[in-house]
Amino acid sequence: EKGLKSIIVFGIPAEDTKDEIATPDYSSTGIVQKAVRRLKKETDLVVITDVCLCQYTSHGHCGMIVENDDTDDGIEILNDESLPYIAKVALSHAQAGADIVAPSDMMDGRVKAIRETLDENGFYNVMIMSYSAKYASAFYEPFRVAACSSPHAGDRKSYQMDPANAVEAIRECELDVIEGCDFLMVKPALPYLDVVRMVRDEFMLPLVAYNVSGEYAMLVAAIEKGFLTEKAILEALLSIKRAGADLIITNFAPYLLLNEMI
Ligand SMILES: [Zn+2]
Repeated sequence: EKGLKSIIVFGIPAEDTKDEIATPDYSSTGIVQKAVRRLKKETDLVVITDVCLCQYTSHGHCGMIVENDDTDDGIEILNDESLPYIAKVALSHAQAGADIVAPSDMMDGRVKAIRETLDENGFYNVMIMSYSAKYASAFYEPFRVAACSSPHAGDRKSYQMDPANAVEAIRECELDVIEGCDFLMVKPALPYLDVVRMVRDEFMLPLVAYNVSGEYAMLVAAIEKGFLTEKAILEALLSIKRAGADLIITNFAPYLLLNEMI
């Protein structure tokens, strides 16, 4: 009613439904699939779904894992073995009515795997918003706490990007473009505005910047303490736009709509 046009859906399934192979993630009666069906039936929203395994695996990783004593934390993430599962999740979201699927796992080759699976099943028009340049960032913390999605052992550094590396973002985006993605993304946004600008200058695809939970929490906390006024919100989001983002995923959307800022 206030003018929201699109939404991205994340699932938080019941703890006791999780297993090693993320079964509730691609079930037609899964929490996201049910939500998408209702959203498409009852609203005109463009519905985007987050596609990943971590919320649904008992170990909390974004891919399949195997024990490996040669690694520091005793486990190894299996890239190629994870791809069919990720593609299955995307297909189940498309079958539920999602307009855009957004893979956030950062496994190599997942855009291609998803595109092929969607096309084979007739979902040519479902678009892929790839989390192309996703950094291993401390700014995800509030979301992880809210979604209980921290890995039980190890971290995500083997598949997320090193914050010190800007050039790798271009390589990651290039691969996603070759594999057939429809949107590129940089995540987080504010601490990576240089990367947003770099990707904008290099590629012609629509660019999404993800203003993550830590960026949101920082501003909200400062405003609550009286250190900043609400004016800082729009200024921060404008800087993301100025850096070259076409779309911004942000928890501030309700605030902007309420204040008729978009
Ligand atoms: Zn994940």
